[in-house]
Amino acid sequence: MHVPYNYLPQEFADVEEIFKNWKILINSSEFTLGPFIEKWEKTFAKFVGAKYCVSTNNGTDALILSLKALGVGQGDEVITVTNTFYATVGAIVAVGATAVLVDSDDRFQINIDTIEDFITSKTKAIIPVHWAGASPNMLKIKEISVKYGLKIVEDACMGIGGMIQKQHPGTFGELGAFSMHPLKSLNALGDGGMVVTDDEKLFRWMLKYRNHGMIDRNHIEFWGENFRLQPLQAVVAQVGLKKLNNTIKKRNENAYRFDENLNLLKQFIKIPTRNKENLETFSLYMGLFKDRDNLMKFLISNNIDVKVHYPIPLHKQEAAKYNCIFNSEKLKNSEYQANHLLTLPVHQFLSTEQIDYTINKIYQFYGKSY
Ligand SMILES: *Cc1c(COP(=O)(O)O)cnc(C)c1O
Repeated sequence: MHVPYNYLPQEFADVEEIFKNWKILINSSEFTLGPFIEKWEKTFAKFVGAKYCVSTNNGTDALILSLKALGVGQGDEVITVTNTFYATVGAIVAVGATAVLVDSDDRFQINIDTIEDFITSKTKAIIPVHWAGASPNMLKIKEISVKYGLKIVEDACMGIGGMIQKQHPGTFGELGAFSMHPLKSLNALGDGGMVVTDDEKLFRWMLKYRNHGMIDRNHIEFWGENFRLQPLQAVVAQVGLKKLNNTIKKRNENAYRFDENLNLLKQFIKIPTRNKENLETFSLYMGLFKDRDNLMKFLISNNIDVKVHYPIPLHKQEAAKYNCIFNSEKLKNSEYQANHLLTLPVHQFLSTEQIDYTINKIYQFYGKSY
């Protein structure tokens, strides 16, 4: 049996509705911004329960645009977590600021108990990451931000379709950034991103900055960039969003089947605890596994496409010598996790047989019967 990690051929097996709408788009020649983009932005804002949405090229640009909108730049510090994708820190560095790296907790989320230790007079913002499609305690992070007068940009790139109690990830801070890259819960055919906010001033500023700072064809108000989402991708997102609830439901069913069975092998495996009041997207299904490297080889030799997100925490990257502040002694949990974590295929097109086959092989590796 093969348990594939890649689900995109199935996700895009039926492209009829996309093609139908692309035809309308192509006939309209609305290739830069325009009605397809506006429709998607309205749809997405409504979907997450935010007032405004500005779409972007990708999630990285969404983070950069957010930081720029808040005026974060040279001399400023931004606190984030060391176990995230490169883009979180890359965005901080791209705007000229310094990233301050905090450890993860046992749920792979930013350790909120240590955030305050890293706040200085230069700290301007916090970027909490909704890592793997789960969430840190956003209410606590908000409390900290209010206490110290900091802004919050949420990296909700993996969080589309999740829920924190009754609120969507990305709607707790001043700004929330999202991605539609093929590894996330909602997929464009390639890249796509969004920023959401309830702040009209930030919204108006981002609309302009995303489009060269233009007010109209012949006037710019300030120097901006081109962060525009392709209307072709907006159409794909519009169609894909209809399937999202079902995708997340299926991923949760798969994840809970893993949880139930892998939690029985506590001497070998540590699965993060789940907050029952939240809905995770399971963009990634991760656990900590004893003898990870050999287990990984064993599973791959059995045709199960497991991955590691990621084997090297950001503070251990060559790039971390520049524009980053951290104390390795205080990042031990992330280092431990990087050496023990494994990401299992959990996507919506896996059958119960494929999930059970994966569980069975993990049991077999540890000499247990399933
Ligand atoms: C994917 C991802 C990004 C970057 O998004 P892109 O659309 O690939 O630019 C940023 N942060 C996190 C946590 C991500 O998972």
